Amino acid sequence: MGLLFVEVLPRDATGGAAVLQCRRCRVDAASVAAILSRDFHGRLGRAYLFDRVVNISLGPNEDRYLRTGRHTVNDIYCICCQEILGWRYAHWSIT
Ligand SMILES: [Zn+2]
Repeated sequence: MGLLFVEVLPRDATGGAAVLQCRRCRVDAASVAAILSRDFHGRLGRAYLFDRVVNISLGPNEDRYLRTGRHTVNDIYCICCQEILGWRYAHWSIT
């Protein structure tokens, strides 16, 4: 395995809550400022919609039927511990 480069996101003046981390290994995953929607639902329940995340790797493209129709998505894994963090739209089609 090669070197693992981990991005550390900037903290706010209070030093903490502005960054979301992997629940298993605590590596930074996203800034709270990157949340586009808190009113989003995934197959496992309530979720956030982000416009940028870091320290992730992608699974293969998969077609899934979501509440809004069929979409091509990728699961998102923590780059450090491989915990599944969520999924992303690879692209979608209107059906
Ligand atoms: Zn992790």
